[in-house]
Amino acid sequence: MELITIHKISGVILLQSGLHIGAGKDAVEIGGLDNPIVKNPLNNAPYIPGSSLKGKMRSLLEARLMGERPETRKSLEKGKPCQCGKAGCPICVIFGVSGSVSTEGNLGPTRLLVRDSLLAPEDLELFKKGELPMEIKYENSIDRRTGVANPRPLERVPAGVKFAFNLGFRVYKGDKEDLLDWLFKGMRMVELDALGGSGSRGCGEVRFLDIHVDEQLRYENLDGIKIF
Ligand SMILES: [Zn+2]
Repeated sequence: MELITIHKISGVILLQSGLHIGAGKDAVEIGGLDNPIVKNPLNNAPYIPGSSLKGKMRSLLEARLMGERPETRKSLEKGKPCQCGKAGCPICVIFGVSGSVSTEGNLGPTRLLVRDSLLAPEDLELFKKGELPMEIKYENSIDRRTGVANPRPLERVPAGVKFAFNLGFRVYKGDKEDLLDWLFKGMRMVELDALGGSGSRGCGEVRFLDIHVDEQLRYENLDGIKIF
């Protein structure tokens, strides 16, 4: 397939509430002493793994789109990702399908590359100076018989912190013009939903700001993006 260009999409993720992207202990240590967040092992700075952002956008877009087609509605109901492999499916084209899926025509490579989002320069400076402490939030599970609260600490990146996001978006000959719009819809859905863990309890409210495409400002924010 002929590659036409690779767009660079960049901007800021502003935390509106504390962000908890677990370092992996959550699953094995429910109720354990700590629920640490992912950090760069070299400088201990928190970051947003590309896989977290990509996975969240994908799952929200799947919830938005898969119900519209009978052949994908079944997979959605089973909680499975879209693997329809159709050239007209924005999800399979943008996010890719597993290698075992036979695709109609040639979908080509995954269009979207989501890099890790690192602390924005000003926040990284604060962090290096020790002036950006992470937050420990206590969540209580309440014993239904005794009413006694059992606090569970949850580490979060505090609200107000900014990360720099950086995405690559490959365009191949014949790609539909509106493909990139689905990415912005996906980002808007993450704003309306949440990023990371404990979203239903207030964590992970984010805003995407100063969204640039190839160094040109495309959106100051995503308020105007319609998801339906
Ligand atoms: Zn699909």
